[in-house]
Amino acid sequence: MSPRRFGFIGLGNMGAPMAANVAGAGFDLIVYDKAGTEARAPGGSSAAASLAEVAAVAETVFLSLPDGAATLAVARQIAALANRATKVVVDLSTIGIAAAKEAHAILAGAGVSYADAPVSGGRAGARAATIAVMWAGPAELLESHRGVLDAMAGNVFHLGDDPGQGQAMKLLNNYLSATALAATSEAMVFGLAQGLSLEVMLAVVNVSTGRNTATSDKFPNRIVTGTYDAGFSAALLAKDLRLYLESARAAGAPSVVGGAVAGLWQSADRAMPGGDITHIYDFVRGIAGAGEGGGEAPPP
Ligand code: NAD
Repeated sequence: MSPRRFGFIGLGNMGAPMAANVAGAGFDLIVYDKAGTEARAPGGSSAAASLAEVAAVAETVFLSLPDGAATLAVARQIAALANRATKVVVDLSTIGIAAAKEAHAILAGAGVSYADAPVSGGRAGARAATIAVMWAGPAELLESHRGVLDAMAGNVFHLGDDPGQGQAMKLLNNYLSATALAATSEAMVFGLAQGLSLEVMLAVVNVSTGRNTATSDKFPNRIVTGTYDAGFSAALLAKDLRLYLESARAAGAPSVVGGAVAGLWQSADRAMPGGDITHIYDFVRGIAGAGEGGGEAPPP
């Protein structure tokens, strides 16, 4: 049976627009963010004073939290609550494979189902309800949540039943996306040094084989415009790449390119704390300006 009341924990760049779409579609929604709920609660939702207040009434609780530590802290709190309506936790966060398995185990011990369901598409996709959801968990749980997921996403994929499979999919996607943005930044710096303009290079690449999400979206819409507003912090992407690399190495998968890309993003994150991912272009230009652009990624 589909749940009647939903909760949402974490109303940041992704959580706030996803929760807004759920409330906007008419679902009964109660929300909470530890940094302050009133200012972040979307219209049509009710603002809770605590996580416990959400779990006391919401049968399904969505999480959009920064990392594994945050999800595990919330999972432990939910599991420990005596007054709990929550039967299902749908985790939309990117937390890595090990943390997803641990969150599942903590909640299973308290009789709460867990879906490992990270998302992709950025803040713009969250606002437009076009994001992809990468669901790992029971198929019947997905079906009973189809309506509410359709309110926030354009594509919902059932990847498997095991917690961690959603994370594996999400991490490999973000590795590809991060590689495209970092490599495009380097390629643009090279082209500028040859007297080519950014606009011309993007126009050519976007009808040629180098096309990617950086050339088709982030460069023309957020870097050339000077807005630098992907709404995704370099710190969170650096976390994703750390998790990807750890998992790839543990699986014995090749990670030559992965190691270089992860190293570059760790250095960029350290150099621009709190910066949007699109500032990687400035970071790469800075390396070139300092005469260090010889092709070696800075050490992780
Ligand atoms: P964010 O930092 O903007 O938002 C996270 C929110 O969680 C913050 O408002 C914070 O106050 C809140 N929070 C943290 N711990 C909490 C707790 N214990 N209880 C209640 N609230 C808590 O992050 P974001 O960019 O919205 O990303 C959220 C998740 O989605 C991350 O795992 C990220 O990797 C992933 N993601 C982000 C994007 C993106 O483009 N921003 C895209 C896809 C996936």
